Formats: sequence, C-alpha cells, structure tokens
Amino acid sequence: MKTVSSDAVFLAKFYICPIVAVLHNYYLVVAELKVKEFQIIEQYFAGQGPMRKDVILGIGDDCALVQPAEDKVIVISCDTFAEGTHFLSDMPAADIGFKSLAVNLSDLAAMGAEPAWMTLALTLPEIDEEWLKQYCEGLYEIAEYYNISLVGGDTTRGAKSITITVNGQTPESMALKRSGANVGDWIYVTGTVGDSALGLDILLGNRQVESESKEYLIGRHYRPTPRVLAGQSLRGVASSAIDLSDGLSSDIQHVLKASEVGAVINVDQLPLSKALVSSVGQEQGIEYALSGGEDYELLFTVPDAKVGALTASLSHAGVKYTKVGQITAGRELVLSFDGKTYISQQHGFKHF
Ligand code: ADP
Ligand code: MG
Repeated sequence: MKTVSSDAVFLAKFYICPIVAVLHNYYLVVAELKVKEFQIIEQYFAGQGPMRKDVILGIGDDCALVQPAEDKVIVISCDTFAEGTHFLSDMPAADIGFKSLAVNLSDLAAMGAEPAWMTLALTLPEIDEEWLKQYCEGLYEIAEYYNISLVGGDTTRGAKSITITVNGQTPESMALKRSGANVGDWIYVTGTVGDSALGLDILLGNRQVESESKEYLIGRHYRPTPRVLAGQSLRGVASSAIDLSDGLSSDIQHVLKASEVGAVINVDQLPLSKALVSSVGQEQGIEYALSGGEDYELLFTVPDAKVGALTASLSHAGVKYTKVGQITAGRELVLSFDGKTYISQQHGFKHF
C-alpha cells in the first residue's frame, strides 16, 4: 500500500537528489572552467605574439596601457567572426585565426592606418586545446607580419565566435574616408575580385573546378590578404577608400552615398584572376566580382592630378591595381560592359 512517507522517499530519491547532484556538478564545472580560463590565458595569450615597445601594460590587468605616437590619431575597428554566419564549422582553426584578424586589418587598410594593437574576445563551446593551438598559430602568423600586439581580451563559454578589435594609427589629416570622392575621380581596385566567393561555392559543393585553381580559390577565401601597405601608400593620393567585404556593387554604394556622387563601373575591366575566369568564364566571373564579397581588396578613388603619384606610391607597395571606372555627378551606380549598360543578376551579401 502507498503511504505519505513512501511518497516522500520516492520524491527524494528520484527528483530532489538528482537535481541536487546536477546543480553540484554544474558548480564544479563552472569553477573548473574558471580555473581553466586563467590557464588558457596564461598559456595561449599572455606574452604571445609580437611585443611592441609602445605597449606599456599588456595582458594581466583590468585594462591595457598603450602609448600612441605623437601627431597621430587612433583608428579603431571591430569585427565578429561567428561559426555558421562567417565561417563553416569545418574551417581549419589556423585559417580561422588568420582570417579573424585579416578582416579587421582590411578595415584599417581602408582608412590608410598602420595597425598596432588588438584585443580578442573568444567564445568557445568547450576548451579544445588542439583547436586553440592551431587558432593561435594562424592568428600570430599574421600578427607577426604586421607587428600587432595582443593586449587584452575576454574568454567565455558559448557558441563559437571570435571578436577582434584592432587599433591602428594615422596622421589625422591623412585618414582615407568614404566621403572624399569627387566627380571625375578615377576608381581603382587592388588585386583581383571574385575569387573568395567562388572559393566558398567550391567549399559548399556548389561548384567543381580543376584542382590547381581550387586550391588557390579556397586559399583566397580562407586567407584573404588585407591591403595594409597599399592603404598606407594611398595616404595623400586617394580621395576616398573602402574595403570590399560584401561585394563591389554593394560596397561602392557606401562611397557614393557618403561622397554624394555617382559612378560608372566598366565591368569588363574588373580584375579577375586566371583561376576565376578559367573556372567559370568571364560572364560568371563578373557576377562573382560584383556580388560575391569577402575579397578584402581596396576600392579607392584618385583625382586625375594624382594619377602619377598613384603609380609611384603603389608600385612601392608592390600591389597590383586596376582602373575600373569613374565618379560621376549622377548620384547612381551605372554598370557598363563594352560601353553598353550591364544588368547584374544579383546583389551583395546582406546579413539581415
Ligand atoms: P576581467 O575579469 O577583469 O575582465 P579577465 O579575468 O577576463 O579580466 O582577464 C584577465 C586578463 O586576461 C585581462 O588582462 C584580459 O584582457 C586578458 N584576457 C582574457 N581573455 C583573453 C583573450 N582571449 N585574449 C587575450 N587576452 C585575454
Ligand atoms: Mg577586471
């Protein structure tokens, strides 16, 4: 026969005890994670990567202290890199490390700034030391190249996501803004455009291409080259600049809006790589270039009187650049192919 006391025993045995046990375990896990978090910071972040002389106090206190150069302003940019949104779950950790900083550097490049310091907010579902080791390899590889010190950050648990804030410097009057383009200025693009988007399509299984091109295209997607030196060389030469993250036809609109001008882009002059054209042909290549995104090349405008200076300064930076159009008074973007109006099939990537 069932009694009150046997109900109480039943409740204690099957409900209360397991709940207490789960809570107890939860607190143990949280405490252990906290200890692990400090070990992780010590092992992977404190004292790692290049150490600049202008870092007065790095990782370990509540804030970092840095000494900016005289006569320069601080240039700040922040980008989040979230699994599922910005990278596929099978992306190699070293490439995630590289790209999570590269995309931030691309913004500094677009302002003509020299990078100097960064912070890293890392959210991970669990502590996977092998992943962390490889992530750091990629991160410090590009940080070494541009001499950027990691001066702080945050480490938390959650869906995998990386936010880097990068700080650079530039003389204030030399910052390249989106708002400086004038009617008649020539429009240029560095490197080649469209490769990264095709690389992504290959990774997603939407396209198949020959193996030599495949490696190059995926490389362009995983490890974009931020045009940091080109950006600095454009100081005093370019009237405006932007980096290409969402696709040329979408990104250029920001320049046109900020500068209150229009533009003609000759799509037949867009710099397409051999790998892109040999894989999908010129027509599709142009579509990748216009709408694909994630090229992290610079688009910039130069007044006619500065074209000579441009040749000198960019050859010095060793970067290929191509004239793709001209700023107009019309307030709209006109795409032209061989002198005829070109209608694009798609638009740039939008998150929302
Ligand atoms: P607080 O609780 O005061 O914000 P934390 O305990 O989170 O400090 O971090 C301790 C130190 O380690 C700080 O100097 C912080 O900037 C640094 N830090 C934490 N996580 C990272 C990380 N992922 N990368 C670099 N530095 C980090
Ligand atoms: Mg604190």
